[in-house]
Formats: sequence, C-alpha cells, structure tokens
Amino acid sequence: FTANLAAIRDMPSLTIDGKRFELYGNIGKPEEAEMVLQQSGEGIGLFRTEFLFMDRGEMPSEEEQYEAYKEVLLKMQGKPVIIRTLDIGGDKEIPYLPLGKEFNPFLGWRAIRYCLADPALFKTQLRALLRAAVHGDLRIMFPMISGEKEILDAKTLLAEAEQELSAQGMAFKSSVPLGIMIEIPAAALVSDKLAQHVDFFSIGTNDLIQYTVAADRMNEKVSYLYDSQHLAVLRLIDIVCRNAKKYGKHVGMCGEMAGDPRMAKLLIGLGVEEWSMSASQIPLVKQAIMSLSESDCVNDVRELLN
Ligand code: PEP
Ligand code: MG
Repeated sequence: FTANLAAIRDMPSLTIDGKRFELYGNIGKPEEAEMVLQQSGEGIGLFRTEFLFMDRGEMPSEEEQYEAYKEVLLKMQGKPVIIRTLDIGGDKEIPYLPLGKEFNPFLGWRAIRYCLADPALFKTQLRALLRAAVHGDLRIMFPMISGEKEILDAKTLLAEAEQELSAQGMAFKSSVPLGIMIEIPAAALVSDKLAQHVDFFSIGTNDLIQYTVAADRMNEKVSYLYDSQHLAVLRLIDIVCRNAKKYGKHVGMCGEMAGDPRMAKLLIGLGVEEWSMSASQIPLVKQAIMSLSESDCVNDVRELLN
C-alpha cells in the first residue's frame, strides 16, 4: 500500500475516464510549502496568514509580511499560491487588537468584517501581498464574505493600496486574481451575484457546515449534527459550483472535506475543480480520484441531490 502511494505521487490526478482535478495544499506557515511540494501538490489553495499575527505583541510590519509571502511564492516556483487575508476573531484572539469579548464570536466581528473596520491593518496586508505578487502566481482571497458589499469595499481598499504603492514608486503587480471563500450559506445562495465580482471561489466547508446546520464546529455535544454530507450542505456546494461555471469562474474547496478520500466521489460529482488539503492527504485523495469515473460520480450525485 505504501509503495503504491509513493508511485501515485508522481502521477496526474485523473479519474478512470480521464477528468483531471487539481490537488493543492493548505499551509499555515511558509516552511510548510515544502511538504506540499514533496507530496506533488500543484499549488497552495489556502495559506492561512493568521500565524503572522498571533503569539506576538504587535502587528507584523508590511516588510515582515512581504518577506513571508515572497518566501512561499519562491518556494512554489510559479505554481499558484492562494493567500487568504487575515481571518481573525472567532476562536482566534490577538492581544494587541481590540476584538473584545463577544457572546457569539463565530457570528461576530471576524475576518473580513474586522479587516474592513481596520483599514490601516488591512491595507498593510494588501500592500505586502501586491508587492510579493511579482515573485510568482499569487492570488488574493477574502474570508467570511456574506454579500456583494463586502467584496466591493475590499476591492476599494485594494485599489487604494495599489495607488499608494504606485505613488511611492514601489514594485508591485496590479490585477492580481481575486477570490473569496464561500463559507457562509448566504454567500453560497447569492454566488451568482458574487461570481460577477471575483475570479474564483474556494468553498470553506469547515465553516459552511457549522453555519448551515447551526452547530459549533468545536462543540462535541452537537458534533453529531456537523455532517458534511447533509443534503443542505451538498445542495449549497452544488449551487456554488453551478454559479461558478455559469460565469466562467474557477471553483475550489479548502475545507477539511476536500482532504477526505471518502468524499472524492461527491466532490467529483459536484464538479469542484481544485481541492486543497493538508499535504499528507494529497496522495490518498489522488488514489481515490484514480479509482473513480467522473460520469458515474456525476450521475450518483444528481440522484442524491434529487
Ligand atoms: C473553512 O472554513 O473551511 C476554512 C478552510 O477556513 P478555516 O478552517 O480557517 O476557518
Ligand atoms: Mg473558515
């Protein structure tokens, strides 16, 4: 079995009937990019940037962030690298930010909501990203988007960051591909509207499931409700994939569901094009894809959804 997986590492992730799916890695620190390459990951589908901001006393500078993003891009040698802007709040606290205590932190001031309220912090990160983008195939992704206005507001700040850099004569890349996480049911339901403002979607099932079934992803007492195969979750993913395709946008998944080989059949059938997971899962998921036929999966999922 181990030898089999080692051989699979260098093969393309094709189904029996020849449909290709892109397998990317999730990382939380720049050095983890190496593990993704070792497992033949074709890109980074989610770089969680929170690590730069946590376990320290002050905000990381633009320079420090630029160096971290550049390190990942250089390591990945031109392969796609999706970097997610700060997803703080929820369960993640930062001592030097005024997040405060909330009754329902997962429904509170988190991720893009916080960033839009702290434009100085957000623009520092966006400037670092735009500057790093000259070193590879960087794509920017916004977390916890619930509707069109948040995308437009984030894009306004991105445009301001570009103007500032260009006024200062700094090197940066303009028109970096822009995507959003689909991890709130509202976003999935209006994904036809959202698709018109971005280049790609990445479905965050960890949060999408918790918000769909209203069961805290960390609470053991309600974990029996946290079901990635709940028909409601599958219907939402189906809506997102259809809308992405309708508007010619790329659709990926970076929640835990993407790294579970038992889910491969569903994801093939639903039409998720790019799957991002912990590096160690890549060969296992590839093995699952190589044992399945796309047309069978599509038929099975169609029946399931009905
Ligand atoms: C998700 O919600 O599925 C996701 C990938 O983001 P995180 O786990 O960081 O919330
Ligand atoms: Mg999430």
